[in-house]
Amino acid sequence: MCNVKYKRIMLKLSGEALAGEKGYGIDFEVAQRIAQEIKDLVNMGIEVGAVVGGGNIWRGRNGNGMDRTTADYMGMMATCINALALQDSLEQMGVNTRVQTAIEMKEIAEPFIRRRAMRHLEKGRVVIFAAGTGNPYFSTDTTAALRAAEIEADVILLAKKVDGVYDKDPHKHSDAVKFDKLTYIDVLEKGLQVMDSTATSLCMDNNIPILVFGLESPGNIKKAIMGEKIGTIIYK
Ligand code: UDP
Repeated sequence: MCNVKYKRIMLKLSGEALAGEKGYGIDFEVAQRIAQEIKDLVNMGIEVGAVVGGGNIWRGRNGNGMDRTTADYMGMMATCINALALQDSLEQMGVNTRVQTAIEMKEIAEPFIRRRAMRHLEKGRVVIFAAGTGNPYFSTDTTAALRAAEIEADVILLAKKVDGVYDKDPHKHSDAVKFDKLTYIDVLEKGLQVMDSTATSLCMDNNIPILVFGLESPGNIKKAIMGEKIGTIIYK
């Protein structure tokens, strides 16, 4: 094991991260690049849990006039599609993986069983947690916070399109200022668009640091693991 800052991590990838420039669906080149970064971590002896979003396919709150619960279940299904895509990219590179779903679909993946997930991680398998929390009205950010607490992850690595947390949208405002550090309370009080408040509160209550960083530059996940100063760290 190299001199790493975190031994067990929870990597949260938004669905959009998998869509790349296309903004919709799955860009398999991007999926392979992410898989390569995850493989590098596994080779360093890091235990990797991952939660993938579904926003590149479907978001419940966009279900124009649909019953919200049904729309959210569609979103949870979308995360399963992404999880299988990531699993495939990883396995093609020789990384052992398991997908565990919060909604049973045992022909496709294991159901989420915490003890089993822990065992997989100890054996060096990447565990991809799919179907969110299994409950409507939640997000995959909350899923990442919940699963991180359950598997006792040292940190949540929140991969974003921007390279950290800013006081305003850096794509729209050239004078936006990036924060190096924030507390959970800062995020909640300032209403910063990091995670939804349920996810942030869960991290705060369970003292799980969140490192927000950009996925655009290759090698960033490794840098984060080695404790290099990238992105924005959120903690107590
Ligand atoms: N979702 C849900 N419960 C969960 C997790 C996700 O209902 O526990 C649904 C919700 O509709 C959400 C969609 O799945 O909009 C996709 O997840 P999310 O929006 O978090 O994906 P991301 O923005 O990370 O791509």
